[in-house]
Amino acid sequence: MLVMMKSHATDEEIAGVCRKIEAMGFKAHPIPGSTRTAIGITGNQGQVEAAAFESLPGVGECVPVSKPYKLVGRELKEDTTVIDLGDGVRIGGRELTIIAGPCAVETREQTRAIAKEVSAAGARLFRGGAYKPRTSPYSFQGLAEEGLKILADVRKEFGLKIVTEAIDVESVELVERYSDVIQIGARNMQNFSLLKRAGRSQKPVLLKRGISATLDELLMAAEYILSEGNYNVVLCERGIRTFADHTRNTLDLSVIPAVQRLSHLPILVDPSHGTGRREKVIPLSRAAIAVGADGLMIEVHNHPEEALSDGNQSIEPSEFQQLINEVSQIAHVLGRTMAKARDGIRS
Ligand code: PEP
Ligand code: MN
Repeated sequence: MLVMMKSHATDEEIAGVCRKIEAMGFKAHPIPGSTRTAIGITGNQGQVEAAAFESLPGVGECVPVSKPYKLVGRELKEDTTVIDLGDGVRIGGRELTIIAGPCAVETREQTRAIAKEVSAAGARLFRGGAYKPRTSPYSFQGLAEEGLKILADVRKEFGLKIVTEAIDVESVELVERYSDVIQIGARNMQNFSLLKRAGRSQKPVLLKRGISATLDELLMAAEYILSEGNYNVVLCERGIRTFADHTRNTLDLSVIPAVQRLSHLPILVDPSHGTGRREKVIPLSRAAIAVGADGLMIEVHNHPEEALSDGNQSIEPSEFQQLINEVSQIAHVLGRTMAKARDGIRS
């Protein structure tokens, strides 16, 4: 059940309802909206009696939840969540979010060179794995903390926000210390202990859709994170496994409007993993923005042919610049904006 506060309810009235929920042994999730605060209740086994709340000061109405998820749904919050990363960088607002960088942090030189290029082209967030979930145990597994330190230095030098993956519960502590956004990868979308740990983090979480996950499974995975009290979750469509063999995965762009109908969480598209082929990244980036995604996650490498992972799907910095130019024009048609490029390369 959701307790919908009146639009003019005071902080004290909201706190009063939360105290009542906690006193019943449940967890209260007050979520402010543009017109009113809604309070989600979790931890209850059966139904919660509306009568217990309806007479409390500031309460508008009690609404039963019709979906299996309680906190990620639009029933709780009508307007799309905007995640504020500081320094004017937001995910989910009018401005599109562009995350770019290599699949993996390989060396300091490689990371700095790519960061310089993507920052100049207008990316405000930088990606790069320090922990890599690889299909083969013999493939490059990432530089671990050394890689995180390189990312932290890049953040300082170029003013970029850092998105990097935690592959297990143990790695979350270091990832949250060095980064701005914790990525949970496709293979871990239903790693429930990892989801719960990320839910107790102070850092926003980027949750990628599992390789064969349905929309409901993706939303329920996000619900795990919110139910622990971390409401800053951004979803990411990164392609699903189908019979198609012209592409590594099938990028399911139809999931974007479907998510947006059901959930208030922002959603990005990763056409790099979504296609696995460099030449498909720009066309599907255009399509992703046209369909209404809140932004893109793009793998960029200065020497893709030498990349230690995902070289086939990594585009070069000049192609990334082209991608930004094309996507900006589509964004404009939709009334969305792009961050200004650095160094005057693009205005
Ligand atoms: C990645 O972003 O580098 C990655 C491993 O992605 P996914 O989890 O979507 O495969
Ligand atoms: Mn990759």
